[in-house]
Amino acid sequence: MTPGWKKLAHQVLDQCRSRGLLVASAPSSILEEGIADVLAQSVPRGDGVPSLARWLLASDDIDEVFADDAQLAVVLREAMKRVPDGELESSATAEPVAGTPADEALARQLMEHWARSPLLPDRHDTDGPQRHRCPDDSKPCSKFGGAAFLVRRQTWPTCCDCGDPMRLLVQLDLSMLPPELSHPHRQGLVQLFHCTRAPATPSRHSTRRCHTPSVFACWRSPAELRDPAERVDDPFAVDPLDEGAEQPLVVRRWNRGRPELPATPHELTSAHPVDPRLLAATSPRRDDKLGGWPAWPSQSQYPQCKECGTALSYLLQLEPGGLSRCHFEVEGVRALGMLFQCSTVPEHVAFRSFPYPEH
Ligand SMILES: [Zn+2]
Ligand SMILES: [Zn+2]
Repeated sequence: MTPGWKKLAHQVLDQCRSRGLLVASAPSSILEEGIADVLAQSVPRGDGVPSLARWLLASDDIDEVFADDAQLAVVLREAMKRVPDGELESSATAEPVAGTPADEALARQLMEHWARSPLLPDRHDTDGPQRHRCPDDSKPCSKFGGAAFLVRRQTWPTCCDCGDPMRLLVQLDLSMLPPELSHPHRQGLVQLFHCTRAPATPSRHSTRRCHTPSVFACWRSPAELRDPAERVDDPFAVDPLDEGAEQPLVVRRWNRGRPELPATPHELTSAHPVDPRLLAATSPRRDDKLGGWPAWPSQSQYPQCKECGTALSYLLQLEPGGLSRCHFEVEGVRALGMLFQCSTVPEHVAFRSFPYPEH
């Protein structure tokens, strides 16, 4: 998303608040992200106002809305004037996707057969340096960074090459996966660690002492999770009161993002040309997300499980420098990190990286 949409969202929120059109107790940064997302999708299609209104009414972060569509239209028009020309570049190309009836039928068919909505992390709360469980629950939680949930007699993972502790990048409680996410395993805990001395790539760390990658992914079974470690200290813990520090983030819930079509050519599009505007409006998001379609380069193939050769199921995409605070790379180039799990054996968790689509 271009910075222009965030600026526009900031203006919209600012004006709504100053005119008393809405009441929200949530921090502006959370609201702005959601509003920016809605506007980036809907303004180019020409239905910015109704989409914004629907989002405001449905959002749990907004307590009250006092605006009607006409008031929102005024706010949106004025906010757009304050965002310099060109900053909303993706809208410049964007007229409503329309064409011949055949185009429309194809677009409908594509959306019916191929569209998937990613799930985006929301309501991040920081955890304390000692916390390895959800603050209000005895279960492990889904989180980016912070203290990992360890089982009894397990010590914090260390890098077998340099011996340093590895940093937790992400932890996913599979029993809390949203029901709409299609994934074969819904139990246990997936964790991803990284040796911060080495670039985050799935290739070899070094040849000095061992041949492991610098990124390590694992799955803990429900039986193991019933016997947690007494106390876990995150070796990378930061002062929870230090606002400048990169705090761990606990995921409270996953919100549905706009539907996406796959970046990889598929049956329908390989047989028929598709309106490029439809593809642009449905291209896979490049940020941290569960499910949806991977935003990898269009020729990418789903990797196979190295342990058993079965297809890997794509689970989570990680943006370089995103919520995991990790700058993934592949052969020295900025990359998306991807977590996969074997379709048949849950223990087989795999991390791969793919060049980040820069354009
Ligand atoms: Zn290391
Ligand atoms: Zn496998």
